[in-house]
Amino acid sequence: MINEVDCPRCGVRMDFQAETEIMSDRMKRIRYLYKCPACGVKINDVELRVSRNGGITISVYSNGNPRGYEGASAAGQAP
Ligand SMILES: [Zn+2]
Repeated sequence: MINEVDCPRCGVRMDFQAETEIMSDRMKRIRYLYKCPACGVKINDVELRVSRNGGITISVYSNGNPRGYEGASAAGQAP
């Protein structure tokens, strides 16, 4: 599921990592991104937003756009 990505700048294999950011006590943002260990270039992959409002809602964003919903331009991304 994790793709191997080479840095567009220097061609080094990029590391896949996740950054978690607490936005509030009810909202957490988890960003998955590739980072080049050589030059530090970052490529955003997917962002999850987990919000607790009675239940738990998980929203998935790709490049800043919601995806996984009907009408979203997510062609080819469906599992
Ligand atoms: Zn690089």
